Amino acid sequence: MSSSSGTALYVHVPFCVAKCAYCDFASRTPRGEGEMATYVDAALAEIGAWRERGLLSDVSTLYFGGGTPTLLGGELLRLLAGIRERVTLRADAETTVETNPETTPPDLIARLVEVGVTRVSLGMQSFDDGVLATLGRRHDAATAERVALALAASGMRFALDLICGVPGQSIASWRESLERAIATGAGHVSVYPLSVEEGTPLWRSVAVGRVSEPDPDVAADMMLLAEELLSAAGIFRYETANYARPGEESRHNTAYWTGVPYIGVGPGAHSMLPAAAFDRVALAEGWYGEPWDLAPGAADAVRVRFSVGSDIASYLHRPTCPPAAASFLTAEEVTTEDIMLGLRMVAGVALAGVEDAGLTGVLESLTRDGLLEQAGERWRTTQRGWLLGNEVFGRVLDGA
Ligand code: SF4
Repeated sequence: MSSSSGTALYVHVPFCVAKCAYCDFASRTPRGEGEMATYVDAALAEIGAWRERGLLSDVSTLYFGGGTPTLLGGELLRLLAGIRERVTLRADAETTVETNPETTPPDLIARLVEVGVTRVSLGMQSFDDGVLATLGRRHDAATAERVALALAASGMRFALDLICGVPGQSIASWRESLERAIATGAGHVSVYPLSVEEGTPLWRSVAVGRVSEPDPDVAADMMLLAEELLSAAGIFRYETANYARPGEESRHNTAYWTGVPYIGVGPGAHSMLPAAAFDRVALAEGWYGEPWDLAPGAADAVRVRFSVGSDIASYLHRPTCPPAAASFLTAEEVTTEDIMLGLRMVAGVALAGVEDAGLTGVLESLTRDGLLEQAGERWRTTQRGWLLGNEVFGRVLDGA
């Protein structure tokens, strides 16, 4: 499979030093000696299978996410070398590694540069040690700053993640985090309001009143402050939660929002392929029917989203097992989805595409509610629509 945009390859590394209080991602601490090496073997086996299926011959972006990919240490370098042997990466491919401050020693940064990593995304979250403690992070602000400055000195592109709306986080603390993040020279900053996910330690703390519930109005004020300070520093919002200096946008994440096919490797990873490509693989691999319980989609499906199970032990045992779930989208559903995803982007979507999709009425209704606006030949979210993104995206998907 090849298109002008190529394919985006995501590799999920499901291990962390410890579980953060708010985290519901598919990750845990490694169990026993050798589990991380076993994972690397499994991921390479899965990637080899995708190569055999003919779907990794034109990879435009490669992204190691998690979890904490750099917890793999030297095994990460083996994984990267093994991927390069199995996959055809474009000469200008963007290769990103997510990391956390406590797993990013200076020598690892140098080795990542040597092996062709072009971008590092650092889970910094805050420059306030009290906020980091509430989040259950394992690093302090001084370590995070030291790593960010080492990344800047390496000359590699780097991104920082920040969380706002944390109970106990003041506006002054948030302002300081933003200012210190800008001062590191990061080319990309992601800003997420804290979400309390059911079943996490933070959720239990909120439930028993040990930690106060995040206030969405405070989070909104913090998101507005982020946009103000980051824009003033030349770091512009290009997506709901993402800001970049011009040219520093994440090509990999942009692929998710613009309909580029992607393959996710590792436990719990998600993929999206044109239906014809998925069907060819599913038939060849015997994924349809018993015992996998995966049925072919509607004959008019044009896109398939699918994911493998998130159980790490199962994945290590059988990395090439069939998807645990798949959704088959018709052309009409794909168009609606693309418009919804396009509205995440600051550039918005073309009027003509919305009209062709029969969604003009929905977008006019969102405009009457102050959530969208027309700008030239495009629809885009207003500031209110950006802050109430879930309402916008939900109404587009529901067609109401
Ligand atoms: S570092 Fe990230 S993936 Fe790991 S536990 Fe914390 S939030 Fe979850």
